[in-house]
Amino acid sequence: MPKERKINRRFHVKLTNGEEYSEEVSSSRLLSWELAWKNWSQLKDEKILEIGPRYSRWALRKQLQLNNCEYYSITAGKSELRRKNVIHPPEGKITSPGNFFTATDRLTDHFEEGFFDRIIGIESFEHWGHQIGKRIEGYPRDGEEAYRVGIEQCSKVLKKGGWFEQEVPIQSHGEGYFVYELWEDLEKNFPKDTWSKMEIIEKGRPEGYTSVEACKHTERITPDAAPPYSTLRCSDCCWNAMLRWQRV
Ligand SMILES: [Zn+2]
Repeated sequence: MPKERKINRRFHVKLTNGEEYSEEVSSSRLLSWELAWKNWSQLKDEKILEIGPRYSRWALRKQLQLNNCEYYSITAGKSELRRKNVIHPPEGKITSPGNFFTATDRLTDHFEEGFFDRIIGIESFEHWGHQIGKRIEGYPRDGEEAYRVGIEQCSKVLKKGGWFEQEVPIQSHGEGYFVYELWEDLEKNFPKDTWSKMEIIEKGRPEGYTSVEACKHTERITPDAAPPYSTLRCSDCCWNAMLRWQRV
C-alpha cells in the first residue's frame, strides 16, 4: 500500500471587520480557498450568485456582505435543506438576498434576466453533471446536457459584461472536462455569440507537468468508480484552477 500522504495546512484570513477565519484543510482545499479569496474577497457593490456553496464557508460570504455586495446562493443539497441553511424559493422572482434550494437548470424561474453581476462557485462546477441529478427531480441526468442547460440559464440571469467564474480541482474528480482537462469540449457549452473565450488561472500545478495521469494514491479512493466520475488524483496530488468567462 502506498504510504499515506496527508498534508494538512491551515487556511487563515482576516476579514475587514477584524474577525478571523481559520481552518485545517487538505492541500487541494487550501489552493481552492486561496484562489477564491484572492479573486473574490475584494469585490464591491455587486449582485453575486454562488452556486453550490458549503455553508460552513462563511468567510467569503461574510466578506462580500461587508463589501456591500448582495450575496445570493443556490444549492441542490438536501442535507442543506434539512439543516435549514437554505429555503425553498418563493413563488415568483427572488428580489432580495438569500440561500435557496434549487438547481442551475431553473435559474430563470427564480431570477429576472440580467440580474447578476457575477456567478461564482467553489468546487461545485465539476459536479453539475452527476451529483445534482440525483437530488433534484427532473434535472437533466446526462452530464453534458446538465452543463449545456445550466450554462445557458446562467447566461440569461447574468448582466451583459458580467462574469461566470468557477473554481475547480484539476485532474482530480467530477466531470471528465476537469479530470482530463478537456477544455475544447467544455467550451462547446459557451457559444461565442454569448461568452468570451475561457480564461484559466491555475494554482499548484507542478512545474512542467503536462501529462494526464493518476497519482499512486487513487486506487484507495474510488475503487469502483468508472470514468468520467472516477478520481484521478487525490486531494494532495491534484491542483486547482479558476475558470472564467465574460457574458458579452
Ligand atoms: Zn495522490
